[in-house]
Amino acid sequence: MNTRQFNFSAGPAALPTAVLELAQAEMLDWQSRGLSVMEISHRHPAYMALVQQAESKLRQLMGIPSNYKVLFLQGGATAQFALLPMNLLGIKTHADYVDTGIWSAKAIAAMAPYGVASEAASTASSGYLKVPAQSDLKLNKDAAYLHYCPNETISGLAFDYVPDSGAVPLVADMSSTILSEPIDVTQFGVIYAGAQKNIGPAGLTLVIVREDLLGSAQATTPNPFNYAMQAANDSMLNTPPTYTWYLAGLVFDWLLKQGGLGAMAEINAAKARLLYQAIDESQLYSNKISVSNRSKMNVTFTLADKTLDAKFLQQAEINGLLNLKGHRSVGGMRASIYNAVPEAAVRALVAFMNDFETRHWA
Ligand SMILES: *Cc1c(COP(=O)(O)O)cnc(C)c1O
Repeated sequence: MNTRQFNFSAGPAALPTAVLELAQAEMLDWQSRGLSVMEISHRHPAYMALVQQAESKLRQLMGIPSNYKVLFLQGGATAQFALLPMNLLGIKTHADYVDTGIWSAKAIAAMAPYGVASEAASTASSGYLKVPAQSDLKLNKDAAYLHYCPNETISGLAFDYVPDSGAVPLVADMSSTILSEPIDVTQFGVIYAGAQKNIGPAGLTLVIVREDLLGSAQATTPNPFNYAMQAANDSMLNTPPTYTWYLAGLVFDWLLKQGGLGAMAEINAAKARLLYQAIDESQLYSNKISVSNRSKMNVTFTLADKTLDAKFLQQAEINGLLNLKGHRSVGGMRASIYNAVPEAAVRALVAFMNDFETRHWA
């Protein structure tokens, strides 16, 4: 019996069925210990071994060099918006920010109490339909860092290049792209991501930080949010979200079994191609994002007749296609097709979209 539906949620998002089945199987009795993994101390040697293995699998998957620390924190990407200036400004007073949409704008707004966010570029005037070119970035040589969002989850807008920030550390909010394709970690000073899109359940925030950037936190930084203190304490300064961390480890295992991030990138590109092709070939659906900046993780589209939106969503749900409603701030539709969403889900969605168009539009 398979009652699981195809889930296109933007986050908290789909998890691999195989991972949930494994978690279910060992829910009551983890490692034949007669208890659940969520019922033991985070300082138990078996749990410490679990998190060490999770980190080494993540390092293997992403090719994280040894001069980077991996922190497993709480507070979500939103907390990081403030923790970045708190931890990275040091004696500097400003950092550069690229504005490409709602998430990067929130990061900019959160900077205000700590320093000046200089706008390196903004594509607001074009309605956020593309990302700025490297040559359009106004970079300050003495900025504490350059911040950008490689994938704007809400609009479905993605960078097709990694900005060159020179000697200034590059900071990326990878909440909705992390683990979806291989990246060169050495291009970044800090990579951060909330877990609930492509890592695991909500409650965990990953921060990958180059060691030389540690140690300049403002005195007012709470200890659990101080990167250097968490790094020195293996992210266990206080009780971490133990079950989410365990589940993230299972997801890392699953990704290695799929062939790693190179294999995931191919699968993800194929899924996105299918869906954008269906949109481009249709008269009813459209996506206005500049083609080279279309997100492979969050595919947004609108219907030519808005009054069909409710019917589209209702019939999609009847067909087992869940959570396609676009973000409340932009409307329309959004299919989030993270790692755990199989190609079969995208094929089912495309078939439904074609059928819906035939019945209600063409
Ligand atoms: C979801 C998301 C966030 C917010 O994450 P929280 O964990 O809810 O704080 C920030 N940035 C991006 C790019 C996101 O996709």
